[in-house]
Amino acid sequence: MKNILVVGGAGYIGSHTVKMLRAQGYSPVVYDNLSKGHRQAVEEVPFEEGDLGDKARLAEVFAKHHIEAVMHFAAFIEVGESVKEPSKYYHNNVAKVLNLLDTMKENGIKYFVFSSTAATFGEPVQPKINETHPQQPINPYGNSKLMVEKMLEDFDQAYGLKSVALRYFNASGADDSGLIGESHSPETHLIPLVLQAAAGKRPSIKVFGSDYPTPDGTCVRDYVHVNDLARAHILALEKMEKENKSLRYNLGSGSGFSVAELIKEAKEITGIDFKVEYEERRAGDPAVLVADPAKAQAELGWTPQYNLKQIIATAWNWEKNRRF
Ligand code: UDP
Repeated sequence: MKNILVVGGAGYIGSHTVKMLRAQGYSPVVYDNLSKGHRQAVEEVPFEEGDLGDKARLAEVFAKHHIEAVMHFAAFIEVGESVKEPSKYYHNNVAKVLNLLDTMKENGIKYFVFSSTAATFGEPVQPKINETHPQQPINPYGNSKLMVEKMLEDFDQAYGLKSVALRYFNASGADDSGLIGESHSPETHLIPLVLQAAAGKRPSIKVFGSDYPTPDGTCVRDYVHVNDLARAHILALEKMEKENKSLRYNLGSGSGFSVAELIKEAKEITGIDFKVEYEERRAGDPAVLVADPAKAQAELGWTPQYNLKQIIATAWNWEKNRRF
């Protein structure tokens, strides 16, 4: 199985996965409407512009490239926006994915890799979140991703469509080449914002909340490098195909770092003492979110290869010379 349609392949995690698929001998084809993605991120691969909601276009692309599996990255990802505009999230992240799955079914494509999220778990009930942790999202973004996980279970049972759902913790970092990296508009993620403060592109970094029940009062997150995520996609795709079964994995390092710790590391790595301002908590942020990656380690042989310093260093390399 070599011909993979990467939906949302011009985006952040999609483009890193496309690069790794190519390096491992796959033939990825990017399908993207460029509403968020960047054409420059995938200059060297077949590119098909199109929308997830367009069944005829999807069917045409499936046939043209003899597609055997679909990796799906095209989603809206901002928790705060999802609270204000849930309709947008249910349309794009749920209804259009149903459209994609139906088109796959109609065209006999049986393998699907889905970008899910730690946000499907909601408030943690244990220190590290494993795959048996209850899934009770606390915002429309998490709901939208969990709904697709449920649809995938039903599609497997009824139609034999096999899927992998990968619940990412905090995707971060950039490819070592410096040619691709994170570029959201607006940017809401901590690491790019911190590094933009270091680069003088922003006046300061604002820390959202310093009264959380954590050792230093700031939120703790599990940062996982985008290339480690990309590698997990390929390992999981291969296992799903070999065993012809659906799989679920939580992808994080298993280690948590606070916002304050991350800022300290960033100051050391960049050598720049940028301004830090403490603000109110941001709505919808759990105090601590850390993965238990034991299942992915045991079943996929997957262990993250980049630590926090390397994540920040690669993101800094990208930030200084970003192409888009
Ligand atoms: N955060 C912050 N300032 C910012 C952006 C984020 O303090 O400008 C905090 C946020 O409250 C959370 C952590 O950094 O505790 C990671 O946030 P991010 O949006 O990067 O990822 P999330 O954990 O929401 O997926």
